[in-house]
Parts: sequence; C-alpha cells; structure tokens
Amino acid sequence: MARRKIVAGNWKMNGSVESVVELVKGLEAYDTVDVIVAPTFVYLPIISETLKNSEIKLAAQTVSEFASGAYTGEVSLSMLKDFAVSHVILGHSERRSLFLETDAQVAEKVLMTLDAGLTPILCVGETLEQREAGTTLEVCNAQVNAVLEKVGVELFEKVVIAYEPVWAIGTGKSATSEQAQEVHKGIRNNIAEKSIEIAQSVAILYGGSVKASNSAELFAQPDIDGALVGGASLDAKEFNSIIESAK
Ligand code: PGA
Repeated sequence: MARRKIVAGNWKMNGSVESVVELVKGLEAYDTVDVIVAPTFVYLPIISETLKNSEIKLAAQTVSEFASGAYTGEVSLSMLKDFAVSHVILGHSERRSLFLETDAQVAEKVLMTLDAGLTPILCVGETLEQREAGTTLEVCNAQVNAVLEKVGVELFEKVVIAYEPVWAIGTGKSATSEQAQEVHKGIRNNIAEKSIEIAQSVAILYGGSVKASNSAELFAQPDIDGALVGGASLDAKEFNSIIESAK
C-alpha cells in the first residue's frame, strides 16, 4: 500500500496569538495529505480551538519525560491530550544540541508518547562534520536504533521519522533530493533488518530548508513521504504550496 504524504509545520518559538491564528486559518487541508502544525505550548489551546472542525492535526514540539508532579516548567502528555494534540515532535536537533537531550531521553519520550496513544515524529540527522566524515547513515541509524531498541519494531509502525540534516536546518541550504533519498533509503533498509513490513509502512519525512520551490522534487523520491517544515511553514501561502505539491 502506498504511504500517505505528511506535511508538518514546526513553528518553533515564533509568532503571537494573533499571527498564529491568522496563519492557521489560512491553511488548506486535502484528503490525500496529512497536514500537521506544531505551535509552541502556550498557543496549543487557541490553535486547538481554531482547528476544531478542520482536518489539520496538531503537534507539540516536545514533551516532558515525566508523567506529572514536581517538574517546574515541564508539560506532560496528558496535558497535551487535553488539547487534542495528536503528534509530538521528538529529538529535534535543536532539542538535542541546545537542551542536551540524549538518545536515551528521546527513546523514553517516544515510548511514552506511543503509550499515550499519540504519534511521535522522531527527528534524526547528521551534522556537517559527520557528513563530511562519511558517517551520515551511521549517525542517523544509531539515532533510530536507540529508539528501536527501546520500543521494539512492532510499535515502530506508529512512529513517523523525520530525517533532518543539521546543516540544512534554517540555513536555506536543503539537501538535494538525491542526498535525501539516499539517507531515507538507508534508514528504511536499517529498519527492514528487523521487519520488512514495518520498514515499508513507516513514514519518513525530510526536513531542512524545505520550500515551495524544492518540495515537489523531494516528494517525488520513492522513500520521501513528506516534510517537516520550519521557516517556510510560518508563511501560509508558502506552506500551502508545499502541501499542494504533496497531493
Ligand atoms: P527549516 O527547519 O525548514 O527552517 O530548515 C526545519 C526544522 O527544523 O524542522
């Protein structure tokens, strides 16, 4: 069965109540594409309300690894569920590099998210140094395997993977469609060592300077199942064009 395309917008720490509501109201949903938006925590309630009768789905940008209690500043999965959040971005490179999230924490969060019935969007990707050293696939598969070992391959059916080369995030310099395809295929092959069936069904998104001008070419690759979009998702017209190209 063909995999459905997914286009997710990661708004990061951007916007105001006014601007994010206007942005989400300007987005179009299609039957054939899963569209997801990921506002910062404080805007989840208002975006959830705005999306009430919409097909567009809601994601959080991270979640606490704790269930509840004395964890100042943290937000739990059950709180996200109160606002109809369906997806959680986990292991984004900014979380890994700036907030020192480890593979073990990411794996724990993926497991908890699955247990709560939400869909994790697991981000993996290499730095420029690692690419130049020729270790891209090794790095990405090690990040995937840390989670695979924790959650088991069966549950991986419900995981969305986002391959996001660190050097391509927010730099305007996307991976070429060939570079991305090669890594997506390598990630799929690695999962296939555990289960060919799950490897075929798991969605692998590309992220890193996706724009309307390069999305169609990326989506045409056999192992690229959509995109996780940062900067370009803050502009409704641009994001709609990316969604359109995934139809
Ligand atoms: P970008 O960000 O599209 O601005 O490069 C992608 C991401 O961080 O998910």
